[in-house]
Amino acid sequence: MSRTEIGSLGEFGLINHLTKNIELNNASTIVGVGDDAAVIDHYGRQTVITTDLLIEGVHFDLAYTPLKHLGYKSVVVNLSDVYAMNATPTQITMSIGISNRFSVEALDDFYDGVYTACERYKVDLVGGDTSSSQKGFIISVTAIGEVAPDKFVKRSTANKGDLICVSGDLGAAFLGLTLLEREKGIYLENPQIQPDLENETYVVGRLLKPEARKDIIEFFAEQNIIPTAMMDISDGLSSELLHICNQSNLGCRLHEDKLPIIDETRNAAFKFGLDPTVCALNGGEDYELVFTAKQDDYDKLMQNGDISIIGYTVNAEDGKKFLSKGGNSFDIIAQGWNALK
Ligand code: ADP
Ligand code: MG
Repeated sequence: MSRTEIGSLGEFGLINHLTKNIELNNASTIVGVGDDAAVIDHYGRQTVITTDLLIEGVHFDLAYTPLKHLGYKSVVVNLSDVYAMNATPTQITMSIGISNRFSVEALDDFYDGVYTACERYKVDLVGGDTSSSQKGFIISVTAIGEVAPDKFVKRSTANKGDLICVSGDLGAAFLGLTLLEREKGIYLENPQIQPDLENETYVVGRLLKPEARKDIIEFFAEQNIIPTAMMDISDGLSSELLHICNQSNLGCRLHEDKLPIIDETRNAAFKFGLDPTVCALNGGEDYELVFTAKQDDYDKLMQNGDISIIGYTVNAEDGKKFLSKGGNSFDIIAQGWNALK
């Protein structure tokens, strides 16, 4: 593999190299990369905007994160926030801080992942910024989306007696992280030992290559469902559910036996002596959607095999309780996953 120094292209050469093949997907993108700013026209719909900052050593570890996956994931986690508003993402901007440790080829891998995500989710990369960084790789992504004025969904608008629902399955990304951290530790002690990731492709894939739940937002549109409140799960179900309850001034009941945890996740948890339920409640980075819905929508929701109804909301005075399989009741606490730890 050849290595091209970033310095040989210069800043403008590099930006041109990284953005020259952009093909736009959205009529709303009026001006994209190449001017002082992008121009977007959402034709009377409302604009949703969200941004994330990812810092090497805090949010990701290049020891076990391939750059292509990192590019993909840094886009997807932002799109997930747009979907969590019940909106459709249309554009992103991508800003990077890079040291001379990175070659042009390394950035090509990263952008390969970025463009793969843009293609899959039909969003346009319309701008960004490029800077040098003294240490570490810094990534900032902003995602822009559109939504009809009466369709966006906040965290604060759940009602008493609503169903609490979650998409997909929970806990796997945390186990993927636990596994990769363990393998990294073993490797640092003894570089001769090859990582043992066999049978763990699911949990590792959930961490390194998450998807945003575009399909769930499309299902809502087809079925004429508007959730009463919604969030994506980046910090863990418990933590997100507490946000919805606190902001909506409600309590809740959450049933352990309804939590969607698949066999791959259970097996990985048992291997580490961890409780799969705890991983599902407190593990982060699943990027599933947790939402509340009117009881009238029950039949429609049950048609989607990828949606689980895990509980319901109650009055705030009745507390936020987790009901275990054994019939015990516990207060839900946010132990979450916190990048500021
Ligand atoms: P400015 O001097 O106004 O900051 P730049 O020279 O940084 O402009 O950027 C030129 C164009 O390239 C702009 O459209 C900007 O949004 C875009 N751009 C810069 N860096 C990136 C990047 N890393 N990825 C995608 N687009 C970028
Ligand atoms: Mg700039």
